Amino acid sequence: MRLDKLLANMGYGSRKDVKALIKKKQVTVNGTIVKDSGIHIDTENDVLDVAGEAVVYKKYIYLLMNKPPGVISATTDNREKTVVDLLIEEYRHFEPFPVGRLDKDTVGLLLLTNDGQLAHRLTSPNKNVGKTYFARIEGRVTKADVDRFAAGVTLEDGYETKPAILNIVTTGDISEIEVTITEGKFHQVKRMFEAVGKQVIYLKRLRMGSLELDESLKLGEYRELSAEELAYLM
Ligand code: URA
Repeated sequence: MRLDKLLANMGYGSRKDVKALIKKKQVTVNGTIVKDSGIHIDTENDVLDVAGEAVVYKKYIYLLMNKPPGVISATTDNREKTVVDLLIEEYRHFEPFPVGRLDKDTVGLLLLTNDGQLAHRLTSPNKNVGKTYFARIEGRVTKADVDRFAAGVTLEDGYETKPAILNIVTTGDISEIEVTITEGKFHQVKRMFEAVGKQVIYLKRLRMGSLELDESLKLGEYRELSAEELAYLM
């Protein structure tokens, strides 16, 4: 990649700022002071320093987002705003994608990464990674529903879901529940409730595997995973 693009992407300022650093002889490649901001850097082999500090190239990015309503879980779309559109360029140039899909109106935990292997491990149906959601349901959720979820329910297209753990938080005209599923079928939680004659009116993902929603993130905010969060996921 071009040196100026690489450093701009890594947060060293605009290409103009990078030029200024070079002019001040602050940038070296393999120990030699750089004069041309357009030179090509081989991130596998070249040692790049800025102001005496080694630049650490990152191959992968892992972002934890509190997905807001009204944006779709995709990388690009002609009409709709996507979760990737919410990211600053410094992260977008890694070409991250959302791991698993949340509906446009669903909020909460969304992992964005360019690490395909990790994404596969987290979403592959035979890995049984648990995904826990908080939901508000129109109507009274009962022990009978808990039992039906535990046995697996039959969706409207005939698909038999794997067992799901349903916990009732409060029950009433509007019930609040937490549900853990290990699959990721299209609209799965909404369709599981439809199968027992109830409607989801609010859905928020709380957990995926070992990863928890950071409730200090406002809707639409995101941050890099901590080293600890990443180590648990790997
Ligand atoms: N299940 C749903 O119905 N929607 C989501 O966004 C996620 C799980």
